[in-house]
Amino acid sequence: MECLYCKGDMIKSSAPFNIDRNGYHITWESIPAWVCSQCGEALFEDKEVKHIQKALEKLDDETKHLLLKSA
Ligand SMILES: [Zn+2]
Repeated sequence: MECLYCKGDMIKSSAPFNIDRNGYHITWESIPAWVCSQCGEALFEDKEVKHIQKALEKLDDETKHLLLKSA
């Protein structure tokens, strides 16, 4: 597998993933990923991306009860 950005070799490793959502911010410290040995760009596989999306759906669902309603 080669890096989309610099064509370097991608190695199986792990990377952090941060995302800013409406009303909260989340960081997973270490998710399995392909990481470029040259530029450090991380690429997550579909399996991990699906779990991230599912986790965010659940968080969004609960978070909507925690946010102040705008008038
Ligand atoms: Zn690269």
